[in-house]
Amino acid sequence: MSDSQTLHWQALSRDHHLPPFTDYKALNAKGTRIITRGEGVYLWDSEGHKILDAMAGLWCVNLGYGREELVEAATRQMRELPYYNLFFQTAHPPAVALAKAIADIAPAGMNHVFFTGSGSEANDTVLRMVRHYWAIKGRPEKKVIIGRWNGYHGSTVAGTSLGGMKAMHEQGDFPIPGIEHIDQPYWYGEGGDMSPEEFGLRIADQLEQKILEVGEDKVAAFIAEPIQGAGGVIIPPDSYWPRIKEILARHDILLVADEVICGFGRTGEWFGSDYYGLTPDLMPIAKGLTSGYIPMGGVIVRDGVVQTLNEGGEFYHGFTYSGHPVAAAVALENIRILRKEKIVERVKTKTAPYLQSRWQELVEHPLVGEARGVGLLGALELVKNKKTRERFVDADVGMRCREHCFRNGLVMRAVGDTMIISPPLVISEEQIDELIGKVRLCLDATAKDVRG
Ligand SMILES: *Cc1c(COP(=O)(O)O)cnc(C)c1O
Repeated sequence: MSDSQTLHWQALSRDHHLPPFTDYKALNAKGTRIITRGEGVYLWDSEGHKILDAMAGLWCVNLGYGREELVEAATRQMRELPYYNLFFQTAHPPAVALAKAIADIAPAGMNHVFFTGSGSEANDTVLRMVRHYWAIKGRPEKKVIIGRWNGYHGSTVAGTSLGGMKAMHEQGDFPIPGIEHIDQPYWYGEGGDMSPEEFGLRIADQLEQKILEVGEDKVAAFIAEPIQGAGGVIIPPDSYWPRIKEILARHDILLVADEVICGFGRTGEWFGSDYYGLTPDLMPIAKGLTSGYIPMGGVIVRDGVVQTLNEGGEFYHGFTYSGHPVAAAVALENIRILRKEKIVERVKTKTAPYLQSRWQELVEHPLVGEARGVGLLGALELVKNKKTRERFVDADVGMRCREHCFRNGLVMRAVGDTMIISPPLVISEEQIDELIGKVRLCLDATAKDVRG
């Protein structure tokens, strides 16, 4: 494809498109990157560059690009029944079959699914469902949901509010009332001189302090990602989740484990809750549910919560596209392939251990203060001083590194000065070697920029 074709698409973008999470003026000055094709773990841009996609799109293309079976599943379903709603006491085979397939892989005792169009809608559903749940139980004053600073739960009003992204909150006066936040278990960034274990306990105890401060009779739920994704692949110290579980067991409060990233094999288990041994009451899902081939989300709900909902009359909540038949058909096929090809097991026993051991080698690099990861998630902390964890000031090293990655045919994302990866679950050991080689190259180039 010619450069003039790229310029044409860039002009269309500049003149007509408002992309998500974008500084419009800055992007238009520079020109957007146009991605035209994908195959396996690779993308191609409009100039013909081949790029290893170490982010699986946006944490979602778990089966990789170009899976013909998913295309076929969508095509078949579009021919058979492209749309019908689930509102008026009707259902269609793909939605109910998918609900059953999800129940089969979900943690024990979680056998029902409410479908949505995205992860954000899933979290809007969470907010409405937990408040409705407590109202049915005769405790309508239990409304407050506790989330975490720097957590990410989507970009709708509820998602923005439950999340703890301060920059998002500042635009438009969020969070909405009835949402509280506690600190995140980010040891490298905020743990100071404490050991990871000590820090994990200290941060988890904030949950109990917050419950006591708000009043247990007012707190409906605690929401958290098992591992924070968008916040920078923040892996809690081992002491964190067991202490959170202890605290929740002492108080009558629901646990919402946001599985939008961790779900469907990312950690080497079906869900992040399996990895940490959590027993959540609700689990928002999206992203890997369809490998991103088509939008779909949902909330997996524990049996006891469903029993209560059954006593509440009509739940006045839902979306035109809840359980969309084409999306459901794709999700079903996605789960079938994950099971048939034993992809989650392969992540656990082969590719995750291999990626993590190679990832750890990067900690020897002069820019890398910490290399961490679980499953096929990884993060690198770029610092000026490895000993003191001092950061670079005004050097934009994360963005610089990200640019070097693109130039060298690699998608790695920057969250501040933390570089993160989340490659397709089908990545091979050979492709992991290629990934590590490219990361090294980009770290060297970044180091040269900042050190001269
Ligand atoms: C991406 C994400 C969401 C939001 O999902 P959308 O489909 O973008 O609305 C919610 N929670 C987590 C943990 C996510 O990573």
